[in-house]
Amino acid sequence: MFHRLWTVLFPPRCILCRRFLKKEETDLCHHCREHAPEVTSEKFKFSFLARWCAIWYYKDDVRNSILRYKFNRRQSYADAYGRLLAMKLQRTGMDNFDVLTWVPVSFLRRWKRGFDQTENIALVVARELNVPAIRTLKKIRHTPPQSGISNAAARRANVLNAYRVIDSALVRDKSILLLDDVLTTGATASECAKTLCLSGAREVSCAVVAVAPHGNK
Ligand SMILES: [Zn+2]
Repeated sequence: MFHRLWTVLFPPRCILCRRFLKKEETDLCHHCREHAPEVTSEKFKFSFLARWCAIWYYKDDVRNSILRYKFNRRQSYADAYGRLLAMKLQRTGMDNFDVLTWVPVSFLRRWKRGFDQTENIALVVARELNVPAIRTLKKIRHTPPQSGISNAAARRANVLNAYRVIDSALVRDKSILLLDDVLTTGATASECAKTLCLSGAREVSCAVVAVAPHGNK
């Protein structure tokens, strides 16, 4: 009843272009399903990542959608991203791993935002793929946001040794899928993957909602 009232008051919109969805549409409108900048191959390599998978390129409506999610706390977006990402992982044969984990935010950022946007997506992907999501990493120092730093080397330096494995027994000899929201230069994901590998992880791959169109340049 409450759900019905809610959908009358706030009819669902496309998470990318914000058009109202038709009855038969879920998460995305027909136009965006056909024309969103979908990633179709792993064009770039990122250090320490065996493979990576992204739904879209990070631009235009995709970028706006992710910014709305980050700054307006839209849990419905986490559900949609998680569902779409799980489907993509299955299509690309990347749904076979031992542990699903995510890039953590610092305590300070989590406290300021009141939620961890990447953890929320990871939990949905885990539910869709029927695997456990395990917190394996913690951020041990607060770093300025990567988005404010354009130089790739400076981004790597910004996150160097910023993460620690909570318990190496969780990751030793495991094939791990690391969730993040956006891959830009890959500095953060690579640093997390390096940290996991140094604690004995067998292999780390990464799944994100969007990847920068220019790769790790
Ligand atoms: Zn749309």
